[in-house]
This record gives sequence, C-alpha cells and structure tokens, in this order.
Amino acid sequence: MRRRDLFAASATAAAGLAGADARAQVENTSVKGAPLPLQQYEPKSMLHTRETRVARAKFPVMDFHTHITYSDTMGGDDSKITFNATAEELLAVMDRKNIRIMVDSTGGYGRGLEKTLAALSKKHPDRFIVFTEPWWARTPEPGYPKFQADEIERAHKAGARGIKVLKTLGLYLREKVTTGRLIRVDDPRFDPMWETAGHLGMPIGIHVSDPEAFFLPIDRFNERYEELNAHPDWSFHGKDFPTNREIQEARVRVMKKHPKTVFVCHHVADSEDLPLVSEWMEQCPNMWVELGARIGELGRQPRASRRFFERFQDRIVFGTDATPKGIEYPQQYFCDELYEIYYRFLETADEYFDYAPAKIPPQGRWKIYGIQLPEPILHKVYCQNFQRLLKV
Ligand SMILES: [Zn+2]
Repeated sequence: MRRRDLFAASATAAAGLAGADARAQVENTSVKGAPLPLQQYEPKSMLHTRETRVARAKFPVMDFHTHITYSDTMGGDDSKITFNATAEELLAVMDRKNIRIMVDSTGGYGRGLEKTLAALSKKHPDRFIVFTEPWWARTPEPGYPKFQADEIERAHKAGARGIKVLKTLGLYLREKVTTGRLIRVDDPRFDPMWETAGHLGMPIGIHVSDPEAFFLPIDRFNERYEELNAHPDWSFHGKDFPTNREIQEARVRVMKKHPKTVFVCHHVADSEDLPLVSEWMEQCPNMWVELGARIGELGRQPRASRRFFERFQDRIVFGTDATPKGIEYPQQYFCDELYEIYYRFLETADEYFDYAPAKIPPQGRWKIYGIQLPEPILHKVYCQNFQRLLKV
C-alpha cells in the first residue's frame, strides 16, 4: 500500500470508530486500542476461589443501622414520614436471615415519630427499635437548645430508644437552615441534646462527614469516580465545605465534651483510616462504631480490619444502612443477598468477592476478603454489644 492510501485507510477507520455505535466498538476486540467506556467494563474474575454461602448468621443479628422510614428534618414538617416498607415485608426477610432486631434510624420526630413507633416498635416490640432525629429546622430559633433537649425527652417517653444524626449536621444545616454559614458539628447549641441523651441512656447513631474521596475533585484520580459521577450531589469538594478531617475532629471534641453519652459512629467513623479511628477509640471510651455500607472498605484491608475487630470487639455493632426499595444504592438495598454478603465477610475466609449485590462494584472497583472472626467476637458484634448498649 502506498503511503497516501495508508493514510486514507486509517482516516476512514478513525472516522468509522468515532461515528460507530459504542457497543459495536466494545464488542470488536480485534481493534487494537479501541476505546472501551468505563461503564461498559465488567471484568469477570478468573480466580478459582471458594464461595461460601452464609444464608443465616451464626448468631441472632441486631442491625443497628437501617432506614425503614424517612423524615424531613430540614423542612420542619414533623408529620411528614415516608415508609419504605411495612413491618410484615421486613419480617419475612428478617426471619430468613436470622435478624432478630432492626433499628429504624431515621424514625422522625414529633408527630412523624409517633407514626413510626405505632407501625414498628409498638406493633412488634421485640423486632423493631426506633430512633428519633433532631428537629434541625428549628435550630435558628431562640430557645432551641432547651427545646431540642425537651423534644428528646418527649421522644424517649413516646418510645424512641436512641437518636440518629445524619450528615445533615456538618454538611447541610446552615444558620438559616438552608442558607448562611454551615453549622459546625460541635456547635454548643446541641450540648443540652447530647447531655440529655446520655442521661436517658439513648445512644447517638452519628454519621458526619463521608468517604474521603467525596471531598476530592471528581476526576480520573478519584477512586470513587463512577459513584460520584452518578451522584455528583454527593461531592463535598470545594464551595464552603470543611475538610473531612475538620468535621471528624469536631465530632471527637463533642465525644470528649460529653463522656457520659455513647456515640456510635456510623460507617466505622472513617473506614479508610483505621489507624486514626483506632486513636479516637482509645481517646474516647464513649465512642463506638457501626459497619453499615463500609464492608467495601473493611474488606479490602482484611488484615487491618481483623486487628481492629479484635482490639475494639466490645464497641462494634453490626449495621448495614439497609434501605428497603433503595435500588439506586446496591450497597444498601435491603434484600437477602445484602445480608449474606455481610455474613460472608464476617464469618468466612473467602477471598475476592463482591461487597454489594451489583454488576459493577458501586463504591469503587475493588473486591473484598472475609475476615473470619472468632465466634466470641462474632457473637459480640452480631448482638451482645447491641444488647448491652440498648438493654434488650
Ligand atoms: Zn444511613
């Protein structure tokens, strides 16, 4: 072929590639260097590894972190509560998976809380526990600190057993609720609430901050690029957001200031940095952690995780962040398979498996390894720690 013909042929090939259906390119594996869109890449592992199916947990499970209902804490309409499932729908899965108790974290406040309590814990007192949430919309009002503390007391009387703090605190709640300066996690207006919780023996399930990658640019270096690309509103990079570390440190100050209140830090506090979480656990005897939606992180560092479980075995509770109908977030989607993955991670030494029921790992492209906890630790994590904490 003459040089001019060669040039023409490659130009035609390039034009064809650019215009062709992307699917055809993907399937044309014979074209060297053909681009493959990341979302279409679904590599299948060729490892011949052991697959242990753990259909039921070895001990009764108490799930500290689920979202059976959702409320509107920033909007301020306390009567607004959304049910993601009925008790009966949940009980079928719970019975199959050996789940003794589920905590509905986001049980609401005021009138909404009463509806949640009536539908769940009043109907099935031995199967559901409901937590209340702060009435964030009222934060700017004078007298809020006392009002909020009184509300917690009222919620406790109504039947709420703990308090759930979402990342609303630290990342969304502002001086005028949705506008103005962000309110810090250690703002003294919340002190009476933290103290009242301690006094009443209500643990605080607290989720502040988020994965470290959510505070970095959404670019080719971001290990959770696909997740952030799909949910750009989950990014806290830039604007007036504090850093992950600043939020975390504010929470540590709160825990130190209220030593009689138990803070169960959701998502292992900062699951990417177990050495730092370990330091905080040492400094704050009232700090506990829960695992929800972070076995992807724990399972990709199985040796460090196992050491963490051994060291803090009395202050770790099982949790999933399970959300009925939450199909957008496979790592939280309430179903049999989700629980089986958690059980496999905790109970087996299986290697290199998916941390979520999804075709593409939703929180980063990696797989996990089981940590095969010894039975006494497993027992504590599945239920004994929970029983001690919530007196059940
Ligand atoms: Zn959650």
